[in-house]
Amino acid sequence: MSATAGNASGAGAGAEVIAGLARLPGGCELLALATEREDVALVGGAVRDLLLVRTPRELDVVVDGAAAAFAQELAGALAALGGGAPSSTGHQRFGTALVVWEGGRIDIAERRAESYPSPGALPEVRAGTLEEDLARRDFTVNAIAVPLSGRLAGELLCAEHAQEDLREGRLRVLHEGSFLDDPTRLLRLARYSARLGFKAEPRTAELASEALATGALDTVSRARIGAELRLALAESDAVAALGAISELGALTAIERRLRLDESLARRALALLPADGRPDLLLMASLLLPLSIDPDEDPEPVMFELLDGLEFTAGDRECVMRTALVAPGLFKELSLAAKPSEMHEALSAHTIEAIALGGAMGEGTSSVTAEAEIWFERLRHVHLEITGQDLLDAGIPAGPQVGWRLTHALARKLDGELGGGREAEITAALELDVR
Ligand code: ATP
Repeated sequence: MSATAGNASGAGAGAEVIAGLARLPGGCELLALATEREDVALVGGAVRDLLLVRTPRELDVVVDGAAAAFAQELAGALAALGGGAPSSTGHQRFGTALVVWEGGRIDIAERRAESYPSPGALPEVRAGTLEEDLARRDFTVNAIAVPLSGRLAGELLCAEHAQEDLREGRLRVLHEGSFLDDPTRLLRLARYSARLGFKAEPRTAELASEALATGALDTVSRARIGAELRLALAESDAVAALGAISELGALTAIERRLRLDESLARRALALLPADGRPDLLLMASLLLPLSIDPDEDPEPVMFELLDGLEFTAGDRECVMRTALVAPGLFKELSLAAKPSEMHEALSAHTIEAIALGGAMGEGTSSVTAEAEIWFERLRHVHLEITGQDLLDAGIPAGPQVGWRLTHALARKLDGELGGGREAEITAALELDVR
């Protein structure tokens, strides 16, 4: 495939992209630097989003070489704007660099051509032309570039069908072997369809089904699948992205027991407080069928799955603890009559587990209401006194200090104490520990 220079409307669209870029943070600095050389082009998602009049999440730029040096120059230009110092990091081996600053992130890559030594393997990479760089991309709507400098400055260069696909809201692969070369594109297809509201073009939909049916996702490393799954979990409507992945059949291709219950997931997200992690809650919700499978110990299966997908140890722990305890928490919540009983049932668990357990009470609105009360009020209730206050009051060091504090907290939670430290100390001392 070769990219074609835009026609008159392509040139108009290219000018639109440049005008849009100039309005974005860092856009003017990028354009100014580009005029000093011949090879800078804005590519991929940033061009797509500007043409769709959406705000790009980041800027992707290609140059013909020395990406790291360009990143440093750009970071210098952005530093002159004041504010936090931009950082630039380069990966010489991959010919890529990244500038991160308070206005966002700008990815810089040396133009490259790719070929796949075998299906699902990492591509072999060599320096390439802009046309070749576009030809290695996933979908026509991403195979678009606008050179910011040089002979073609302001032209829209794009893969065949790219402009009509953007207009019509279609996702189309660039060639028949695309999903087999890189099966992570199956997850990307679903993610873009949810985010942009685009539909797979019929032949692309057929190729995706065929690739899934022949087990294409088994040819790619779990780490790469994990990376794509995390991008889906980080989407602003992650439930829609997971829904599209599920509908495509890619969720069960990753692990046959993964299931998305969209309405449960949305209810749980609605309960989750701002200090929770929606991505981990959603991942845990996918694992619920494993938690309640009576025939298998779920823990090692979850561990192996999440470890293979390269969730960090902390995230893996949170997902597992959430998925493993949420169904039981639902039961405990329905039995807890008093705030102190809710505290006993909930205080040791992740907030993601409590939100998920609370959301499992569809039709049992009292459970959801209890989770809400926990998040809004009860989890913030603490004693003013500490163990030291009890030692000072003559209680000997040992486990009874903890029991007495727990007792005082339970009475405070149940609204049985007047305010202040004295009431708490009196409550702690009244416990009979003989
Ligand atoms: P976002 O809008 O979320 O930043 P994006 O559309 O820019 O996303 P990225 O994941 O940042 O996408 O990737 C940048 C570009 O690299 C894409 O637009 C696409 O052209 C290309 N790309 C990324 N992953 C693949 C892949 N697996 N196969 C082919 N091209 C890819």
